[in-house]
Amino acid sequence: MLTRADLHRLDSDDALAPMRARFALPDGVIYLDGNSLGPLPAATPARLRTVIAEQWGNGLIRSWNDAGWIDLPGRIGDKIARLLGAPPATVIVADSTTLNVTKALGAALALRPDRRAVLMETAGFPTDAYAAHSLLTLMGQGHELRLVAPEAVAASIGPEVACVLLSHVDYRTGRLHDLASVTASAHAHGALAIWDLAHSAGAMPIGLAASRADFAVGCGYKFLNGGPGAPSFLYVAERWLDAVRFPLAGWLGHAAPFAFEPSYRPAPGIAAAQLGTPPVLSLAALEVGIDLALGADLAAVRAKSERLGDLLIALVEQECAGGGLTLLSPREAARRGSHISFTHAQAWPIMQALIARGVIGDVRAPDILRFGLTPLTLSYAQLWQAVAVLAEILREAHWREPAYQTRHKVT
Ligand SMILES: *Cc1c(COP(=O)(O)O)cnc(C)c1O
Repeated sequence: MLTRADLHRLDSDDALAPMRARFALPDGVIYLDGNSLGPLPAATPARLRTVIAEQWGNGLIRSWNDAGWIDLPGRIGDKIARLLGAPPATVIVADSTTLNVTKALGAALALRPDRRAVLMETAGFPTDAYAAHSLLTLMGQGHELRLVAPEAVAASIGPEVACVLLSHVDYRTGRLHDLASVTASAHAHGALAIWDLAHSAGAMPIGLAASRADFAVGCGYKFLNGGPGAPSFLYVAERWLDAVRFPLAGWLGHAAPFAFEPSYRPAPGIAAAQLGTPPVLSLAALEVGIDLALGADLAAVRAKSERLGDLLIALVEQECAGGGLTLLSPREAARRGSHISFTHAQAWPIMQALIARGVIGDVRAPDILRFGLTPLTLSYAQLWQAVAVLAEILREAHWREPAYQTRHKVT
């Protein structure tokens, strides 16, 4: 039997507790959605004010050089590389994750020209499959997109598979792939491995280079706290950097953008993955989020995330027994990422009732209540409080109120 006092005790021993003050979270909110939109770092508004007023306002176009705007994608890429466990000059910040999936996949296929299959998961994040499908159609070379169940991935890699394209952490269930072992299975069959780290970058040590992953992509606005629509990152293993050719080209990826040459010559290394002009304001905000993440020990972040997850499951089972919630995430902490999902037939109105009471998580269709655990901001006491609110909503059937039935555009 867990008590409120047990959770308060964990807070007093929490080495990450001081990180909370470095974020600007509103009072009265328990934020369980940092896996979808990371909270605002306290230092971001001032940084943006400087970039806008001084660098843009006073510096004007000179700031591309004087304020180093042009180097932001590579400079922040190097910082993300540290978070991922990758060497410098292997990560660039550019575009959206959707576009980086497209770029990584095209590059991987060009490295395996004799193979015609791309292996993905049936339940993967849809944009990755949409992007892959559209690229394969555009290429018109008869590539096949093969979708299999997550547990069948390793056994489905045959000699015709050019690459696997997988989410490290499943956005719905939170199930975590063993990145190194699936990559090794791909390599054993001559295939490449592309990883979508949207739900793991910044949430756990990844050891990306050591895992031998070939390509990786991820979001800037989830556990990296870069803000809504923050640009994405793309990683290419060092051993591929000389050979890699991206399927899309733009002037910022040219070897000499300001030579304005009539034909394309790729820049050396990861810089060739850039297309157009970098979004400076978004990059400035992203850098603040990354710097915050770099200031925390990722092993401690992961340890707290695992503990928060274990406690959330235990508390829900203790306090919400008979409430109709079914655990969807793996029970074993080592097999999941940093969010916990439950299914419930009334998932939508229950979540609306939670949000109305300041407990913010989200819903994934059709019936999934998803709770992101952000170790940098979440306290154990808040976890207790969140479950107490959930238990009351279920016990009193507050979710039946008409106000909670309306569907929104964004869930
Ligand atoms: C959030 C998420 C994305 C989002 O892609 P955008 O292009 O940034 O909108 C892609 N893949 C996965 C696995 C995600 O979780």
